[in-house]
Amino acid sequence: MPELPEVETVRRGLLPHLEGARIARAEVRRPDLRWPMPPDLVQVMTGAVVTSLRRRSKYLLADLDRGGSVLWHLGMSGRMLVEGAGLAGFHRDPGVIARHDHVVLTTDAGTTITFNDARRFGMVDLIREGESHPLLDHLGPEPFDATFTPDYLAARLAGRRLPIKQALLDQKIIAGLGNIYVSESLWRAGIDPRSLSGGIDIARLTVLVGHIRDVLNDAIAAGGSSLRDHRQASGELGYFQHSFRTYDREGQPCLRDGCGGTITRIVQSGRSSFYCPDCQR
Ligand code: ZN
Repeated sequence: MPELPEVETVRRGLLPHLEGARIARAEVRRPDLRWPMPPDLVQVMTGAVVTSLRRRSKYLLADLDRGGSVLWHLGMSGRMLVEGAGLAGFHRDPGVIARHDHVVLTTDAGTTITFNDARRFGMVDLIREGESHPLLDHLGPEPFDATFTPDYLAARLAGRRLPIKQALLDQKIIAGLGNIYVSESLWRAGIDPRSLSGGIDIARLTVLVGHIRDVLNDAIAAGGSSLRDHRQASGELGYFQHSFRTYDREGQPCLRDGCGGTITRIVQSGRSSFYCPDCQR
């Protein structure tokens, strides 16, 4: 499931092709993905200029000059493909099957932007002018917002007996984090994912806030370099190789200097947590 850095990478990859472009043609090839798509989606998008392409949490928002926005979520397997005559060298990964191309936009520059989603957990919806959207209404601050501070986190976690892992996955507390970057942030901060949220002191929360930002910045930077590589060969955006330090490393040595521990997997609320019992307390 793409988290904030993957969605931000997709946004940056689409930006030069979509922001400021007019959607000359829009095709919606099925009535639903995870949920039904708006029946007037094609009509609203056709002829509209995308005035800005934004990200909120794990969502992409394309603001339209006629008012309102298109809201996208990549789901589990959603990909954005950028293809066009002017994009020499781009080719489609043979594993990305055209049968799963669900929404296809062609800009006035002749670039085709395709939303391909094999598992169909993604979504496309419209936010009407002057309205909000229920999926965005209750989101907490972005990790890079000035309002996301150690004091904010302390106030939100005060008295909570919820494990810190679950608290950081709660999009109402902080937006955009998922299983991967929560595991990585807690490892960097040396905090046991089972620690009760309300019991973590402000000094440790300060360290944690810094590491959350660092881990996301590192992943966005990795996405950026993968984007440059992809541009040489493929129009596919959305997934790239990371070097995780704890996520998916069960049984492997802890990478913290001098630790000597072994990464362990536990299950919290039905989801895997990876951590080092020796240096995460
Ligand atoms: Zn360790």
